Amino acid sequence: MSRALIIGAGGVASVVVAKCCQNSEVFSEIMIASRTKAKCDALKEKWQDKTKTVISTASVNADNVPELVALIKEYKPDIVMNIALPYQDLHIMDACLECKVDYLDTANYEPEDTAKFEYSWQWAYRERFEKAGITAILGCGFDPGVTGVFSAYAQKHEFDEINYIDILDCNGGDHGYPFATNFNPEINIREVSAKGSYIEDGKWVETEPMEIKRVYNFKGVGEKDMYLLHHEELESLALNIKGIKRIRFFMTFGQSYLTHLKCLENVGMTSIEPIMFEGKEIVPLQFLKAVLPDPASLGPRTVGKTNIGCIFRGKKDGKDKNYYLYNICDHQECYKEVGSQAISYTTGVPAMIGAMMVLKGEWKKPGVFNVEEMNPDPFMDALNKWGLPWEDDRNPVLVD
Ligand code: NDP
Repeated sequence: MSRALIIGAGGVASVVVAKCCQNSEVFSEIMIASRTKAKCDALKEKWQDKTKTVISTASVNADNVPELVALIKEYKPDIVMNIALPYQDLHIMDACLECKVDYLDTANYEPEDTAKFEYSWQWAYRERFEKAGITAILGCGFDPGVTGVFSAYAQKHEFDEINYIDILDCNGGDHGYPFATNFNPEINIREVSAKGSYIEDGKWVETEPMEIKRVYNFKGVGEKDMYLLHHEELESLALNIKGIKRIRFFMTFGQSYLTHLKCLENVGMTSIEPIMFEGKEIVPLQFLKAVLPDPASLGPRTVGKTNIGCIFRGKKDGKDKNYYLYNICDHQECYKEVGSQAISYTTGVPAMIGAMMVLKGEWKKPGVFNVEEMNPDPFMDALNKWGLPWEDDRNPVLVD
């Protein structure tokens, strides 16, 4: 019997709300609070007759710490789930500290004016969260999130040491648009237009955007082109998993997406530098977001599957060992169940599970943690129960 405050009412938050409503035993009360209250009210309207969870809504600007503090003090949640954007992470963490409430998010902090993300800003809160006796769980979506839980599980049960991790994120879905992003367009385009990087022998190696390409045959999807990207969990996994020599992240992209992205980049539409337009300052990327399809609207039209997982290479009992853990998720199945496509679903389900882990005491300890620092076992069980069953392969095809 707990009370959760969910901040944000976009694509991912709508899945978090749906899954909390399916899990009323744990989430007996939720509040959906976001910038646009009408979106919170629409979610309440959608679920309130189908659940025992008591839903309330509020308007909040999550960049305004006193406003957040007032809302938290009034609602008195047991956990605050930050399902808004990475720009809000630190403000919401500040408010949680002031109110001594546990915190969870799905993406690491990124300053709005620099397309750069790393954990240092949030790890700097460790001591303050410890002293306050509250828990912060960072990056509890799929990647980051489940990829960290998979890594902790492989380390605990399958390996003495893990030397190589390749995280493969394949979206085999087709929404029928020539160009659209599956989650917040601004965050997505900042991520994919940045330089690529991976960690080798404790050091970051930088590549040009989309410089490294591989082809992989994904179970449930088929053969896809995938490209090496910088991704936030590389930073924490390289520290938290024993024996890492190299860790990389690949994501699949179709040719139409890449051609459109290149064209938009070439004309300056992906820039985050403000420009003057008709006497007003605008950020080209934010304008682009406004004209692109809303990711939350892709659900009914997206068909196909995602396959996201980690290939581990390391040693067990002195012998070399390879092991692949992954989940396959079907866009249309997600839509039938909660009205969202699989990218929102694969992010929202782990966020609900992570909050449940904290609320049930399984992941409750003072400090700021990445998911792989926690016991993976109850989370792995919950993935099977709550809609993201995992599979493994003891003889996977490796990525060169
Ligand atoms: P959306 O853009 O669909 O939703 C974001 C929501 O946050 C909107 O409801 C928006 O309000 C609200 N919001 C934005 N700024 C504020 C603010 N200052 N105060 C209050 N509310 C605010 O994004 P998604 O749902 O696609 O993504 C949500 C998060 O999930 C992002 O951080 C994203 O990076 C992360 N993510 C993580 C993944 C993972 O696997 N770990 C994968 C995919 C996404 P409004 O409606 O008014 O715009």
